Amino acid sequence: MIRAAETIQLTDTGRQRRDNEDSMFARAPVFVVADGMGGAQAGEVASRIAVEAFEQGLADSGSPEERLAERVREANRRIHEISRSEHERAGMGTTLTAAYLDDGGLAIAHVGDSRAYLFRDGTLTRLTQDHSLVGELVRRGKLTEEQAEEHPQRSIITRALGPEPSVDVDTWTYPVRDGDVLLLCSDGLTSMVTEEQITEVLGSTESLEGAGRGLIKAANAAGGRDNITVVLSRLEEVGGDGLDAPTAVGLPAAKADPGPAGSQAPSSSSPSPAASATAPPPAPRPAPRETARRPAAAPGRRWGRPMAALIATLIVLCLVLGGGYLATRELYFIATNGQGIVTVYRGLPYDLPAGVRLYETVYVSGVPASLIPPDRRGTLLGHQLRSQNDALGLVRDLELGRLSG
Ligand code: CA
Repeated sequence: MIRAAETIQLTDTGRQRRDNEDSMFARAPVFVVADGMGGAQAGEVASRIAVEAFEQGLADSGSPEERLAERVREANRRIHEISRSEHERAGMGTTLTAAYLDDGGLAIAHVGDSRAYLFRDGTLTRLTQDHSLVGELVRRGKLTEEQAEEHPQRSIITRALGPEPSVDVDTWTYPVRDGDVLLLCSDGLTSMVTEEQITEVLGSTESLEGAGRGLIKAANAAGGRDNITVVLSRLEEVGGDGLDAPTAVGLPAAKADPGPAGSQAPSSSSPSPAASATAPPPAPRPAPRETARRPAAAPGRRWGRPMAALIATLIVLCLVLGGGYLATRELYFIATNGQGIVTVYRGLPYDLPAGVRLYETVYVSGVPASLIPPDRRGTLLGHQLRSQNDALGLVRDLELGRLSG
């Protein structure tokens, strides 16, 4: 049978946030990471509720995927109810990535842009699909993975626990085998550190604890702009029947020993036949609702992508040449700010190379983007250029609740 030989969980506030809104839970065979959102500590509350749903264990019946998904839906209901009944929690939400290990493999339930990975024989495989704006664009072939990594809107997620009374939960099951390492992490890691870097840290670090610390260190070294959470578990194959017990008992568990575990594995236990299969690709999902989070206008680390840069430069050039630069001062658009709050900006929704922004904040509303009816979010937050009256008028209507449906 396969089991978790060793598990570690680490979280770090990062270098730029004051609070840590991530939560985690790791008690084999259940592993969970949640990344909360919403002002005034509401994100912390949401992610905590999400992981607490797993602390009681899973339901007795159903497949592992169903049992995980049931807990996720339960957490969604709780978060949604509290966000509706407590004013200071309005609009809170969280991502959630949960895994359950048993002899059938590793079952995953997932909503949002936290991630699960499997590290095997020096290769890192991503097990989850991001429910994010850029993730959707990559799946539709509109962006490459590289472009997505640097996209200014990469932190907008399209699915979360909390905003709606019910939630679609993606679930998959992957075959696992002796020596695999499971990694669950929040986007505070993956938005700062490339998968190549993660692979390098996991492949070069002696202990699981050291690997976890190495990942957090790497994210902080890259800027640490967000909370960083890492759950790591090393899996091992152990004897499945009582006859193997004496052999197993006679040998200490491989705590921090990164060396080959072959000598400790009971000889009669055959390698899992399923383990050699490659993980099936995650199933495509229907286009999700849009749940805006964090800066629609977040500054990209680097612009770097020639095509996008060219387009932005051409726009600016046309405006400048056409005497239109001043006119951009009269253009407005609506987006979400760093706290996920609907905000009116003056200018154009673009960042230029060298960190030059073509917009400035005019008015921060009292409305989290998650409170906007889903069918209105696209048009309202779509960066459409508007007049000052139009932009401010729309946001005021929103604040007064006149934009319902
Ligand atoms: Ca995050």
